[in-house]
Amino acid sequence: MTSHDPTAMTSHDPTAMTSHDPTVMTSHDPMLSVVGVSKSFGSVPVLEDITFSVPRAATLVLLGPSGCGKTTLLRLIAGLERPDKGEIWRGEELLTGGGTYIDVRHRRIGMVFQDLALFPHMSVFKNVAYGLRPGHRRNREIVEEAIALVNLEGLEHRRPHQLSGGQQQRVALARALVPRPEVILFDEPFASLDTSLRIEVRSEVHELLHTLGTTAVFVTHDQEEAFVIGEEVVVMKDRQIVQHDRPSVLYRQPASPWVGLFVGHANMLPATVQGTTASTCIGDIELLESSTVSTTNGTLGNVEDSSDSSYNSNSSVNVLVRPEHLQLFDGKEAKVELVEYHGHDTMYAVKLTDNQKMLKVLVPGSSPQFDHGAEVALAYVGPPTTAFPAEGG
Ligand code: ATP
Repeated sequence: MTSHDPTAMTSHDPTAMTSHDPTVMTSHDPMLSVVGVSKSFGSVPVLEDITFSVPRAATLVLLGPSGCGKTTLLRLIAGLERPDKGEIWRGEELLTGGGTYIDVRHRRIGMVFQDLALFPHMSVFKNVAYGLRPGHRRNREIVEEAIALVNLEGLEHRRPHQLSGGQQQRVALARALVPRPEVILFDEPFASLDTSLRIEVRSEVHELLHTLGTTAVFVTHDQEEAFVIGEEVVVMKDRQIVQHDRPSVLYRQPASPWVGLFVGHANMLPATVQGTTASTCIGDIELLESSTVSTTNGTLGNVEDSSDSSYNSNSSVNVLVRPEHLQLFDGKEAKVELVEYHGHDTMYAVKLTDNQKMLKVLVPGSSPQFDHGAEVALAYVGPPTTAFPAEGG
């Protein structure tokens, strides 16, 4: 290990973690490491001190609202932009930083962008072959292998306009895969597909990445997509990483109320804490022992938001209650204000009679059990959950 080894560069690096807590992910073999990267365009900062790594063969998703810097980060990794500060490593090779700058063509990093960038006048075969270096483009075998990988055999002679959106997507994927990159980057690759096709192509790509064992970084602003595709998810907000975790940890132990609301539907119930029990307007709810330490223990990257590591008795908190963890009964506690039927379940908005607070409740089942205006009671039926210190609490 040299002093330039990315695994030795940051206290946030997952390789530095020795905890046996299963919620703490470790990687002893990062395929890609981004260390302390910052970038401005002119005087406008776009990324600030970004640090994370991607284990070999894993898929990591960069998730965040529009404008938080996801695409810029991907372009820095690809070598299409240069960072102002920090380093980027592929395995043990320094790609950017400390005076080094490996050109985009020599990074062994493939890219699939939202607009696909296929050549309209070229056949599928030629489009895929274009992914190879000029001297290798006549290697039929390698190109045919990539076309077969994405199930496009028989369509080699077609032009992009003679293909469906999903097939065009697969051509772009084959072109990125044909030089066998060590890392492949995807920038909102399914955004132009309609919902059912998006889900289908997404599953195909997901399966293919698993089969090939390719390390991948995906950019999306869609939480569902991030959770489906990503073994690890980096949540970004305002130029920074706010949490880096497995999807299930992000969902259950978000680092801040903002992350909690960004990665799914959530109710925030004001409460007072005694021990690990929160007393809320719908009854007592058990809190995760570590609920307010998830930012430090469950996080792989650097964190902007952070919370206290323990509760004071009688302190005021906001308890994170996911809608599927509430159950509805006949009763007088609340009134159904909205019924949204999704087929596999129904989302209700109910208003509490006592304090007029609106809550979301998700009830599984093939038909709605309550109508608009129905009087109901609520119970919390979920596992111990997370709480955040209330403002000024
Ligand atoms: P989206 O999901 O909308 O694509 P994003 O999270 O990918 O957003 P970026 O595209 O990285 O965000 O943009 C981050 C910020 O940097 C935005 O404010 C954007 O306007 C700005 N930006 C991006 N590229 C440039 C550029 N070449 N010159 C100046 N500003 C830029």
